[in-house]
Amino acid sequence: MTNETWGQVREELIKRVGQNNYTTWIEPLRLSHLKNGVASFEVPTTFFGDWVSRNFADHIRGQLAFAGAPVDRVEFTVGAPADRAAAAKPAPRAAAKPARVRAAAAEDVPGAQLEQRFTFDNFVVGKPNELAHAAARRVAEGGPVTFNPLFLYGGVGLGKTHLMHAIAHELKINRPDLHVLYLSAEQFMYRFVQALRDKQIMDFKELFRSVDVLMVDDVQFIAGKDSTQEEFFHTFNALVDQNKQIVISADRAPGEIKDLEDRIRSRLQCGLVVDLHPTDYELRLGILQAKLEHYSNQYRGLTMAPGVLEFLAHRITTNVRVLEGALMRLFAFASLVGREINLDLVMECLSDILRSSEKRLTIEEIQRKVAEHYNVRLSDMIGPKRLRTIARPRQVAMYLSKQMTSRSLPEIGRRFGGRDHTTIMHGVRKIEELMAADAQLVDDVQLLKRLLQS
Ligand code: ADP
Ligand code: MG
Repeated sequence: MTNETWGQVREELIKRVGQNNYTTWIEPLRLSHLKNGVASFEVPTTFFGDWVSRNFADHIRGQLAFAGAPVDRVEFTVGAPADRAAAAKPAPRAAAKPARVRAAAAEDVPGAQLEQRFTFDNFVVGKPNELAHAAARRVAEGGPVTFNPLFLYGGVGLGKTHLMHAIAHELKINRPDLHVLYLSAEQFMYRFVQALRDKQIMDFKELFRSVDVLMVDDVQFIAGKDSTQEEFFHTFNALVDQNKQIVISADRAPGEIKDLEDRIRSRLQCGLVVDLHPTDYELRLGILQAKLEHYSNQYRGLTMAPGVLEFLAHRITTNVRVLEGALMRLFAFASLVGREINLDLVMECLSDILRSSEKRLTIEEIQRKVAEHYNVRLSDMIGPKRLRTIARPRQVAMYLSKQMTSRSLPEIGRRFGGRDHTTIMHGVRKIEELMAADAQLVDDVQLLKRLLQS
């Protein structure tokens, strides 16, 4: 996404919000960056940022998605006035140096901005995320600390950040007396480095040790960054000792984060570790339905043909972010061309997303590759023969199906000639057991994985 794209997005925004609103609120925005699903804009004042966030953030996200740059959040930071001074003609005489407004004014809490949308109300609960949701709810009550830390992990776009923000929002209501600090691990590092540079490390330590609830998002980021890890570890321990709640998220389990010090790893495992599983069809449909309600209010007059949501939930299985982006783009597109949202429009408008989700691995492909590799017939994969020379490759295929697709055990069972899910589980376990002792099998599995991924 370039400033040029932002230029195009702005053109569209004029149509959506009207010229007056545009001139007052959109034109002054300056795109400072767009990454990790966040579009960050510079605004002249805090009030300005709040207003735009409340009234126009959805429009901005919609148009960004339409331009092919979907984001989860739109963020507003108060820009340094020095920038504008610099852009103006050089001052005739050395006027008083423009006082660099410090980013953290007295009113500012030094955490990251919270996304208004990321509340428990807006979080759709299903089988894959119910444990994580329940744990987050518990922390958000602000009662006595029962597990510390709460460690949430899961793949990209499955709702980790959403849940953390929801905790912060809820704590503000339940326990306004608590000092809650949410930030990403990247911001933690940035602040730490800044404190080192400005020789304010004592302030830094004091600040982080004085919070009541600390939430650090995407902690895998500090892996391999030694001094940041060290500082994080001390902060962590100090807070745990004071019985303060800590919430951590990462894209994988503590044991799977490489280049993380062992003592940190084991500390992270001490509390409650819960994962967000890949979404299933029901959850995706639920999320789409919730979003639809929201968009129907925003884009009045647009209609949607039956079956569209089901189609999207069925076809877009990667992550919720992509799913949301797709729906948002549909609405933006439909309102632009003034058409009903039906399957034709979906094909036209989302062909890129649909194409990339088509490439997902199927169980049939896995069966074919495994059969080829072990020189058995494909029909034997799903057939009833129990001969070792056939049963073993079949189990390998079961194992890979479980590992490499998001299909559930019963679903896998159906594709293996209608076998029971316990049979699949047994097959998966068997291969896991054998791999512990059989190097040849490990090699086979790895090779097959590579072949299937390419
Ligand atoms: P992560 O931090 O795990 O990468 P996010 O929390 O940023 O993912 O979620 C990505 C997007 O998907 C956000 O817009 C979020 O609101 C949405 N989302 C994820 N899970 C859910 C859910 N269960 N219900 C509603 N929205 C969800
Ligand atoms: Mg996140």
